Amino acid sequence: MRSPAIPFAARWRPSLASTALITGLLLPTSAQAADSPLLQWLGTTTTLPNWQLLLLGLLALAAPLWLTVALYRRLGPAWRRYREDHFLGMRWRWNYKGDKPQEIRCYCPEDDTQLTYHYSQTDNEVHFRCETCERIYGSFAGDVSYVRGVISRQIQRKLRTGEWQTPQTNGAAAGER
Ligand SMILES: [Zn+2]
Repeated sequence: MRSPAIPFAARWRPSLASTALITGLLLPTSAQAADSPLLQWLGTTTTLPNWQLLLLGLLALAAPLWLTVALYRRLGPAWRRYREDHFLGMRWRWNYKGDKPQEIRCYCPEDDTQLTYHYSQTDNEVHFRCETCERIYGSFAGDVSYVRGVISRQIQRKLRTGEWQTPQTNGAAAGER
């Protein structure tokens, strides 16, 4: 008879404890609770000049508005959270300025090291190198800003087509060579 009672009690203990806590905070169920300075203070009234009341009211209205604006500025529209993808066999990350990708940087897909690049002027080619695993990515035609331009156009294409919302395919997207 005891064994089923134990799991039941164990399951309900936190809920009972929290109920008791809430009751203790909100309702003066005992003489001791009724004597608590906090509850006594909560029961008293305050005289405020109307301008202070108005100020409090305005603050109460402004706070959620300010919070919403701050959150929107920080997170922005959903597409602004698209800041990472795989192109040309590398991992790319970027920020936005307006609706344009900025500060486009590339990382090793194996160990996430930011890649260095080497541009050969004679061949007009650039390759990227990982300092951790020493893998080489490329070469790609053009210099590093041309390659960044390629990535920027791919990002903007995916934003236009809505493709950015589908799970990453680890570089299977356009531009892979
Ligand atoms: Zn690496």
